Amino acid sequence: MDISKMLDYQKLDSELFKLEKSLRDSQHKAQASQMQDTAKKAQERSSQLESKAEALYGEIDKMRSQYAVQQKKMEEIFAKNVDSLSKEEVESLLSVKDKLASNLAILDKNLTRLAESVNAVLADFNKTVKVYNMARETYAKSKGAYDAQLQEVEPKRKQITEKLQEIAKTIDPKLMEQYTKRRKDNIFPVMVPVRDSSCGGCHMELPVSMMNKLKEEGVLSCEHCRRIIYNV
Ligand SMILES: [Zn+2]
Repeated sequence: MDISKMLDYQKLDSELFKLEKSLRDSQHKAQASQMQDTAKKAQERSSQLESKAEALYGEIDKMRSQYAVQQKKMEEIFAKNVDSLSKEEVESLLSVKDKLASNLAILDKNLTRLAESVNAVLADFNKTVKVYNMARETYAKSKGAYDAQLQEVEPKRKQITEKLQEIAKTIDPKLMEQYTKRRKDNIFPVMVPVRDSSCGGCHMELPVSMMNKLKEEGVLSCEHCRRIIYNV
């Protein structure tokens, strides 16, 4: 089997492989995807914080109405004319007043605690919004830089691809198919020479039977690394 065209193809294909690798390894691409992730997480966090703040506001409202009820009772006591009451009645009233005062103090303390929690949640929310905006901004920059990178290599990529298509027409279809399959799996180089009865790719030694097959057919798929070994 004449594999010289296949080797020509591979030589040109190595340029395409390098081009694709530079895009795969692009820092801009990596950063864009990282920022997308950061923005998504910040969005999730801000919506969690929103519900948390809502729950806290609900609690505050509940506590404020409880406070108003207790306060009203207190005002009612103060409005009473104690001169008309017996000693026992005054004592009982004072005891109720003490109880109400203690309730109001507890509610007051709880309200202060809730207000602190709300402030902490709001501060966290503002910070998260800042992170989100920063991530969106950086994402737009990185995405733009990556798109520019894509555009820059596009003419070269197109040129190589067209040439490869031309060469492919002159190659045995079965061999071409084997090559393309491995290339898609990111195996490169696909075609490797046999070296001292070993695979030129992974250096696995070939048994005599395989060596005979290689001599007979000209090419052989390595059982270890799947590269196509060719006889030299
Ligand atoms: Zn191998």
